[in-house]
Amino acid sequence: MLLSSKILCSCLLLLSLLNLNSAHGQILPPSSRTDTAIFMLNEKPIQVIRYRYGDPNIRFLSLHDTEKTGLKAAFRYIGIYGGYAVELQYGRVRNIAFSDSLELFSFDPNNMFTDEGAYLGLARHSAPQIRNGLPEMVRCLGSEVLRFGGLDSLGVMITLHNNYNGGFSIYSYTEGNYLQSTADDVFINAGMDPDDLVFVTDRRFFDYLKAKKINVVLQSMMAPDDGSLSVFAMQNNIPYANIEVQHGHLDENYRLIVAVSDMLKEIPVQSHSTSLDQVLLHHK
Ligand SMILES: [Zn+2]
Repeated sequence: MLLSSKILCSCLLLLSLLNLNSAHGQILPPSSRTDTAIFMLNEKPIQVIRYRYGDPNIRFLSLHDTEKTGLKAAFRYIGIYGGYAVELQYGRVRNIAFSDSLELFSFDPNNMFTDEGAYLGLARHSAPQIRNGLPEMVRCLGSEVLRFGGLDSLGVMITLHNNYNGGFSIYSYTEGNYLQSTADDVFINAGMDPDDLVFVTDRRFFDYLKAKKINVVLQSMMAPDDGSLSVFAMQNNIPYANIEVQHGHLDENYRLIVAVSDMLKEIPVQSHSTSLDQVLLHHK
């Protein structure tokens, strides 16, 4: 297992340097820079695209290839204030599918950040039995995305997700609903759309956003290990904030990005540029 993980990880990266500065209809200033890394899951290419402009004072990650409102809002922010945004592209679907011989496997990329979650994520979305080596490949992709994005180098992780009207909302975390056990605290501003919220792992973030009357959920310390980045961040003591907004709510998405950015200017987080490398070494 150790050996296969190392071999698979070491052959994933093909780096191409492009000078694109637009994506999804949003344009960054001409002096911005875009780098693309391609990770191969067997025959399936996963593009990890890193956009940079100005000072890297904030870094955003967009995992799901069907959720681009957050990325557009991040571009708007970066074009003014500078920063990084990283997105995954793998075919404009939610789950990543790849084949092994003749069988098809699938997983949600927000389950690829822990060993346990990588296995469970594959098992949940794939019909065939999960063979040895496949969870390690998925886990490796998660590690490489974090490394390529330098995502904890500022001492905090910020992700961008979008959801649809109805179904999931901040009320999913309230008493009697299906995500109740994953949250330690919830604040709801009845004047906001319940699909627009910030999900955090740090009590200081929760208290700050609540004081600003922003919908906010504090992840439970007992949240199950599903391989999500919020659980990985909690396990590794990296403060985490997910800005989760309904598709198309671009202005609200931007407002919440600014709120989180302002929050990070007031609440100190420990910048530790080598911490992720140390964490990832444990998986080699
Ligand atoms: Zn998402």
